[in-house]
Amino acid sequence: MKATITDVKSEPDPNQDSLVFWGRRKKVSAPSGLLSLGFMLTCPLFVIFLYVCTWRFDSSIEETASTLVSYGLPGFFLKYTPSPTLKSIIGYTGWLVFQAVLYSVLPGKRVTAPPTPGGNTLVYRVNGLNSWIVTIIATVILAVTEALPLSSIADHWGGLVVAANAYGILATLFGWMKGHLVPSATKDRRFSGSLFHDLLSGIELNPRIGSNWDIKLYQIGRVGMNAWVLIDLSFAAMQYQKFGAVTSTMLVPIALHTIYTVDFFVNEDWYLSTIDICHDHFGFSLAWGPAAWLPMIYTCQTQYLASNPVELPYWCSAAIFAVGVAGYIMFRSSNHQKYLLRQSNNNCLIWGKKPIVIQSQYTTADSSTHSSLLLCSGWWGAVRHPNYVGDILFSLCTGLCAGFTHILPWAYFIFMTTLLVHRALRDEARCRAKHGVFWQEYCENVRWILIPYVF
Ligand code: NDP
Repeated sequence: MKATITDVKSEPDPNQDSLVFWGRRKKVSAPSGLLSLGFMLTCPLFVIFLYVCTWRFDSSIEETASTLVSYGLPGFFLKYTPSPTLKSIIGYTGWLVFQAVLYSVLPGKRVTAPPTPGGNTLVYRVNGLNSWIVTIIATVILAVTEALPLSSIADHWGGLVVAANAYGILATLFGWMKGHLVPSATKDRRFSGSLFHDLLSGIELNPRIGSNWDIKLYQIGRVGMNAWVLIDLSFAAMQYQKFGAVTSTMLVPIALHTIYTVDFFVNEDWYLSTIDICHDHFGFSLAWGPAAWLPMIYTCQTQYLASNPVELPYWCSAAIFAVGVAGYIMFRSSNHQKYLLRQSNNNCLIWGKKPIVIQSQYTTADSSTHSSLLLCSGWWGAVRHPNYVGDILFSLCTGLCAGFTHILPWAYFIFMTTLLVHRALRDEARCRAKHGVFWQEYCENVRWILIPYVF
C-alpha cells in the first residue's frame, strides 16, 4: 500500500443522499420523526422495566414480562414505578450541583478540539481526572465518617433512577430550547424538519453556557462517567451487608470499570476528538443517555451481583479480568495510535515503524479546506474500527462475571455490541461523505470493518 498525497477535494458520495454535508443531515421524513418519538418514550420505560426486573422480580425477564402483559402497560408502570423520595431528589440534585461546581472550579489544561463542521474551533478546560479524584475522596470521607454510608446509592436506587430519568428529560428539553433561542454557534446547529427528531438527535453540536462552560462534556464526562464506579461500589457495599462478603466476581467488573473511567479522564483531551464531542448533537441521546441510561445499564452486573452473588474460582475471575484488560489495551492503544498520528502530524512510529497514511482533504461549511490523515498501520491496518472491537471484548468480560443463568447482567454487553456495530456503519457513511475518495482508498486498503474475514 502506498501513501497518497493529492490535492483533490473530498466530494460527498452521491450514494449518500441523506447526508447533504458531512455532519449535517437532510430533512427527515414524518415516519422517521415518529420513530424518534417512539424511541424517546420507550427508553425511560425500558430503564424502569429493568429496574423493576432486577429489584422486584429477582432479575427474571420472563416473569417481569408476563406481569407486564397481564397488568397492561399503564397498570404495570403505575404499580411498579418507584416513588421519587425527598431524600433521593435532594441527593440527586446535590450530585448535579457538586459535579457542576467541580467542573467550574477545578484546574485543568486547556485543549483545542478539531474544527467543527461549521468551522468553529472550541477550547476546553480538561479537569475530569481532578473531578474524579475529588469525587472519590469525598465519597470515602462521607462513608468513613458514616455521614453517608457507601450503600446509600443502592439503598435509594429506585428514587434515584426516577430522579435521573426526570433530569435527563428536562436536560433534553433545555437543550432543544437553547438551540432555538440562544444558540452558542448558529453554524453548528442542525434542523431536521421534525420536532421529534430534533429532540432526539439535538440541534446544537456543542451547546455552552457563556463561551467556556460546555454542557455536553459536563453531562457525559461528569454527571455520567463520575457516577459509574460510585454506583458499583455502592452495590458492592450492599452485597457485603447482605452476605457478609464481597465476591471476586463483584470486584472484577468494579476493577475493569475503574480502569475504564480513570483512563477516560487521563486521556480526556483524546475524548475531545471523538464522535460524541465532534459529531453528535446534544439531544435526548446525549442529555438523557448519560444521566439515566448509563447509570442503569453500565452497572447491570454489579446490581445483579448485589443480590445474586456468583462464586467462581479465583483463577477464573483472574482469567476474566486478564481478558478484560487485554480488550482494554486494544481499545486504548488503537485510540492512541490514531490520536498520536494526528497530534504529531505523522511524526511518530506505530508498532516501531513509520506509519502508512492517506492524506485527506475535506471542506467545512464556511467553504474552507482542511487536511487530515487516515491511518492504515497498526490496529487500523487490520480493521477499520479496532477500538470498537476492544470495547466489545471488554464489555463481554464484565458480563461473564455474572454467569449465564440470567440475561439481565448482560445488558451492558448487548448494548455495547449493538451501539458499536451501528456506530461503525454510521461512521462509515459520515467518513465517506467527509473524506470522499480518500475514504474510498482507505476501504480498499483495509477491507474489514470489525472482524477480519467475517465483517
Ligand atoms: P473513533 O474514535 O473511532 O472516531 C471515529 C472517527 O475517527 C472517524 O469519524 C474519523 O473522524 C476518524 N477516523 C476513522 N478512521 C480513521 C483512520 N483510519 N485514521 C484516522 N482517523 C480515522 O470513534 P468514537 O468516537 O465512536 O469512539 C471513541 C472510543 O469511545 C471508541 O473506542 C469507542 O469504543 C468508545 N465508545 C464508548 C462508549 C461507551 O459508552 N462506553 C460509547 C461510544 C464510544 P474524522 O472526521 O476526524 O476523520
